[in-house]
Amino acid sequence: MPFTVRLRFHGDLPFFIRSNAPELERQLSERTSVKDAIEACGVPHTEIDLILVDDQPVDFAHVIGSEVKIDIFPVEPKRITSFPENRLQVREMSSFVADGHLGKLVRGLRLLGIDVAYDPAAEDRQLIAVATSENRPLLTRDRRLLMHAALRHGYYLRSQNPLDQTVEVLRRFDLGSALAPFTRCLRCNASLEPAEKEKVIGQLEPLTKIYYEHFRRCAGCGQVYWSGSHFEKLQKRIETIRSRLATENAM
Ligand SMILES: [Zn+2]
Repeated sequence: MPFTVRLRFHGDLPFFIRSNAPELERQLSERTSVKDAIEACGVPHTEIDLILVDDQPVDFAHVIGSEVKIDIFPVEPKRITSFPENRLQVREMSSFVADGHLGKLVRGLRLLGIDVAYDPAAEDRQLIAVATSENRPLLTRDRRLLMHAALRHGYYLRSQNPLDQTVEVLRRFDLGSALAPFTRCLRCNASLEPAEKEKVIGQLEPLTKIYYEHFRRCAGCGQVYWSGSHFEKLQKRIETIRSRLATENAM
């Protein structure tokens, strides 16, 4: 017998619904997991932190077989007060994998010292494999990818602007206090180590040799970094991000 379920999407989750309406009704013709019922509305499970079926918390595998009311809540940055034991997402995670379209976001996060695995040529199944085997949340704007059953953690970037995306990730995974700017290679994600000038001098341009004394070298790819003309611009970018995080936390 077909039955009707009522779904109510809280917080910013209506963003994912085509009509943007927070409440939907759906006809189901057979027993369905609550994960499938929710994702059929367009909301990936990685965005959902709490599900209440008729006011009782359930997990994604919970099966619906009759008329019920479902309340769906996103991950919220504020302190959790209700059902702390029944939350479905992990807030604090510090290493990520990004899909192949997010090169600018990846550089923005690595600039802040955050570990992001990235291969512009990676296929979907490779992204899922890295995310699951290394327990890295998948960062993407492909919501179908986030609906993959094997994926435990992920995040759908709301903005298309790399700076806004960086702030989104820092907020969602509570990384504001974990920032370590200029400690990670923007190209390959490995750690940077201090390097003596004579060890890197062969890799420097003539003017750099004259004007700079302090260098860092990537332990992975060998790229040399110094506080050159681009440095001030990067510093400004970091300050902008820090002040946006501080403002949002104070709200
Ligand atoms: Zn490198």
